Amino acid sequence: MPSPAYLRTLLLPLCLLLPAAHAADAHWSYEGDQGPAHWGDLGNAMCNSGKAQSPIDVDTHKLVPQKVAPADLRISYGRSPLKAVNNGHTIQGNPSGSDGLNYKGDDYRLLQFHFHTPSEHLFNHHHYPLEMHLVNQDKDGHLLVLGVMIKRGKENAELAKLWSALPRNKDGEAQLDAAIAPDLGQLLPSKGHHLFYSGSLTTPPCSEGVQWILFEQPIEMSSAQIERFRQIFPDNHRPAQPLDGRELDED
Ligand SMILES: [Zn+2]
Repeated sequence: MPSPAYLRTLLLPLCLLLPAAHAADAHWSYEGDQGPAHWGDLGNAMCNSGKAQSPIDVDTHKLVPQKVAPADLRISYGRSPLKAVNNGHTIQGNPSGSDGLNYKGDDYRLLQFHFHTPSEHLFNHHHYPLEMHLVNQDKDGHLLVLGVMIKRGKENAELAKLWSALPRNKDGEAQLDAAIAPDLGQLLPSKGHHLFYSGSLTTPPCSEGVQWILFEQPIEMSSAQIERFRQIFPDNHRPAQPLDGRELDED
């Protein structure tokens, strides 16, 4: 009959191992042995085994035209107090207003937006310097992400105040009141031509069932603005994933 003390020593390593395993799940990055090729081995099986993963390389010659009516997407974004957070993977903006959109009759609320460099989606094998993701969720938990490509050009005035307050260190935060927060409606490309496909989160756990809507027209940022982001995150993009027979639609 083992003594209680013996049992304790037997159980102790197990108890210590469990939290360690969970902590390992949370640790992923964009390089080395915690980089995108290893996300599946770090407890995120879908990143390896998924068949509808994001991002993708968009072949603009293989789009299914007029599959979605322009009226199927109505975006209502504006300006509201914003908290910007450096979460160690990107800069994430958490708006506090009533930003949202309606897609095919379903209402979505804007949860957050963030940035990747270079762009995660490619257009005919070409990256843009930066890509913005606006993550929306409906009442049933379905996710819809708007992807906006950012090309090198004029300074982006709408993002200037946020950019001068970018938190450089992990867990750093910056609070922007409504007067200096970006107007997310004004920020979006003026031409409302979009590409639609079904994909996944581009970060662990790479969950699928995400509706992607990419603007075909990019917006602009200056070289100095692009460089400012890259000083904090030199490369935070996941490589393009196989299309696996998925259809790409346009409106
Ligand atoms: Zn993203």
